[in-house]
Amino acid sequence: MSSYALLMFLPASQEIEVGAQGGMHFEKGWYVYVGSGNTKRIERHFNDREDKKMYWHIDYFLQKGKPVRAYRYEKEECPLARSFERLDQLPLGASDCNCRGHLFHGDLEEIERIALSQNPTSVFKKKVD
Ligand SMILES: [Zn+2]
Repeated sequence: MSSYALLMFLPASQEIEVGAQGGMHFEKGWYVYVGSGNTKRIERHFNDREDKKMYWHIDYFLQKGKPVRAYRYEKEECPLARSFERLDQLPLGASDCNCRGHLFHGDLEEIERIALSQNPTSVFKKKVD
């Protein structure tokens, strides 16, 4: 099973409507989201077409947050998410599992350190065109 950790930057503190979950406040700064899926899913996150369908809760966050980098893993998403639990864990992105959330807020250095400690098989950077 493939999973990934998506590193994102939110340029300003704000409230974001997260589908049926309603408005949630997010502080400016760095975030990491843990999901399951392959390279195609990662590329979908990096694709910022405005007409993109809102499919997962993280899609709402990505209307404001900028994806920066993604780490891909050959492991299950929930154990991967647990490795980030020392960060600030937000109740989003875990509607079909028992985790409190798959979105975390923290320092860039700490997020990168944890992401690399979990042995990613590859790292993707957003293409700038
Ligand atoms: Zn989970």
